[in-house]
This record gives sequence, C-alpha cells and structure tokens, in this order.
Amino acid sequence: MTRVLIVGAGLTGSLCACLLRREMQSKVHIVVWDKARGSGGRMSTSRPPDSLSHSADLGAQYVTTTSSYALSHFRFYSELLSAGVFQPLDSLVEGQKHKDGNQDYMTPLGMSSVVKHFLSQSGAHLFFEHHVTGLYRRGASWEVQRKGGSEMFDAVVLTMPAPQILQLLGDLDQMLSVQQKQQLEGVEYSSRFAVALFFPPDVVFSFPWTARYVTDNPCVCYIAADSRKRNADVPGRGPSLVVHTSIPFGRKHLEEDKEDVQPIILKELNKLLPGLPQPISIKCQKWRYSQVLTSVPDCPGHMTVHDRPLLVCAGDSFVHSNFDGCVESALSALSVLKDSL
Ligand SMILES: Cc1cc2nc3c(=O)[nH]c(=O)nc-3n(C[C@H](O)[C@H](O)[C@H](O)COP(=O)(O)OP(=O)(O)OC[C@H]3O[C@@H](n4cnc5c(N)ncnc54)[C@H](O)[C@@H]3O)c2cc1C
Repeated sequence: MTRVLIVGAGLTGSLCACLLRREMQSKVHIVVWDKARGSGGRMSTSRPPDSLSHSADLGAQYVTTTSSYALSHFRFYSELLSAGVFQPLDSLVEGQKHKDGNQDYMTPLGMSSVVKHFLSQSGAHLFFEHHVTGLYRRGASWEVQRKGGSEMFDAVVLTMPAPQILQLLGDLDQMLSVQQKQQLEGVEYSSRFAVALFFPPDVVFSFPWTARYVTDNPCVCYIAADSRKRNADVPGRGPSLVVHTSIPFGRKHLEEDKEDVQPIILKELNKLLPGLPQPISIKCQKWRYSQVLTSVPDCPGHMTVHDRPLLVCAGDSFVHSNFDGCVESALSALSVLKDSL
C-alpha cells in the first residue's frame, strides 16, 4: 500500500488527508505529522488552564466567503454546516469591511473543530510532536527525518508556510529549480501577536459588539469577545476575549519574547476597554507566519518539487490566507496525488 506523509495538521493538511481518503479509500496509508502538541495550526483553539472559562481562538477568527467561493466550494460549506461545525455569524462585528454577497461563518466549538472534523474523516494516522527536519531521496521513496528518528514514505506533502519549507535540510534544496526557489523565497508573511484572556464565570462584558476592528491604535487591530462570537456564553463558564496586534507592531516586536510583549498589549487593551475585569488566566501567542502578504505568483495552489517519488508543497503560501485559500490548495495537491499514485 502506498504510504503518504502529510506534514502539518492545519486546515490544508487535514483537508488534503480527508480528500485523499475519500478518493483513494484503502489504497493509501495516510500519515499526518505535526510538530505541535495538537491539531489546528493557525486555526488553533486554546483551552484555559482550568474549566472556569470558555476556550478562545488564537489564530483564525471566522470564515468569510465570497459568492463565487460559496458556489465553487459549496460541498465543503454544506458539509460543515450540516455537521454543526459552521454556523452563520450574525452578531455585530464593528468596523468590518464587508462586500455585498459575502457570508460569515463562526464555529461553535472553536476554529480547530474545522480541522478536527476533516482529520476525523481522513482515517489518517496522526502523530503530534513530530517535527520534520529534513528530506532525503532513497530510490523510489523519501526518508523523512524528524527530531528523534526518521521514516520512509512513497509520497510527501508539505503544508507549512514557505519560509519553513525552505528551512528543511537534505535533498529539497537541490531538487528545487532556480525558479521554484525564487518563488518560495519571495513568499512574505505578516507577523502578529495574539492574546487570549480567560475570565471568571461572573463576568459579563458591557460592550455591545462580538468583535471590533480597531483602526486608530498602533498596537491592537482586533478584539473579539470570543465566546460571544460562538454563542457560547452560558452560565457556569466565564467569557474569553481575544486581541490581535497590528502588522507594524508584530514586525517591531517580532524578535522579543512574548512574555515581554504581553504587558504592552494588555496596557493598550485596557486603554481601549477601560474597566475590563481581571482575567483568571492569559495566554500569549507569537505568530511569526500569520497571514500571507505575497504568495507564490501564478500558482495552481501547490508546487510539485519532484514527481517520483512525489514531493508536493501546499498551504496558504500558494494561494491566500483564509479557509477558501486552504481548500483551493488542498484540492490542487489532491489532483497531483491522484495522478501520481
Ligand atoms: C492571527 C491570525 C488570524 C487569522 N484570521 C483568519 C480568519 O479570520 N479567517 C480565515 O479564514 N483565516 C484566517 N487566518 C489565516 C488562516 O488561519 C490560515 O490561512 C490557515 O489556517 C492556514 O492553514 P495551513 O494548513 O495552510 O497552515 P498552518 O495552519 O500553518 O498549518 C501548518 C502546520 O504545519 C506544522 N508544521 C510547521 N513546520 C513543521 C515541521 N517542520 N514539522 C512538522 N510540522 C510542522 C505547524 O505546526 C502547523 O500545524 C488567520 C491567521 C492568523 C495567524
């Protein structure tokens, strides 16, 4: 049986695994490795250290689809809506620049539930804390090296951001054509910090909005009453709040420890929301690769580095940073996998 390794348990990797299973059923053995301790990637949902508060989405917040993607990706929207993973987002998002025909969806169980849904459908063998460090061609297979060991696979799909793909050791560098290398090197990402604040059960936010885009602050660009966004504000659990920093702030503080940056963000947040109650716990995340600013140009949604054995790169570096971008990339990687396997 053909052994396929998908590196990355984010949206692109999980959907790719799910579609591959649906198309090729028992003809493939699908393995997913992720360096993190859980699935989701940049669609991560963070739990508080205790069960007194709701969880919070530290990365992607909600899904906005255009009318044309709503049509071309109809089957995915319909699947996620009927599984209860998506629900229309109809509460107030202050300052949102919305185009006619766009539709927003939120995830009652958090954004990582989208990834978990596709992973559960994939039947893939999922391994966390498997950090890939290099790829070596061994005849008709790839030896994939990770921290703590290596394994052989017949085909490999890499779904991390392009700058992380370029950090891999081994034969990848020689196999990339000059043009492919330039294309990968040209990919640029924004950087941001995200802070989640978890509150005790007696806290009720006094502001009317679910989320607010902030335009006049050098540090904070977005605040969400995360549990309210998901209609999850139920008695017994405190609300959660998420703050995203602006791109210039993220760039300026990128090389600093998140522990040193967190107090700066909280100070700005308290200026924007004076009288905000004291949270029980706080989690800060540095997104070095947040959203793609410059993707690989004129690209079908993936890059084939080598045909046999197959090595494909996919993810939002090859399209754009949102749900539909990852769906495009997963579909495009699937077409190559199907042809090759
Ligand atoms: C702050 C923020 C806000 C956003 N807001 C939205 C939004 O509101 N709506 C929206 O649709 N999108 C949003 N996005 C974009 C969206 O989250 C991404 O486009 C999408 O999640 C990318 O998915 P992916 O699977 O391509 O990559 P990722 O989610 O990055 O998945 C790649 C995975 O690879 C793993 N990995 C990396 N290197 C290695 C390695 N060497 N070995 C093993 N594993 C590795 C990572 O741990 C990760 O899990 C946001 C992103 C961020 C950061």
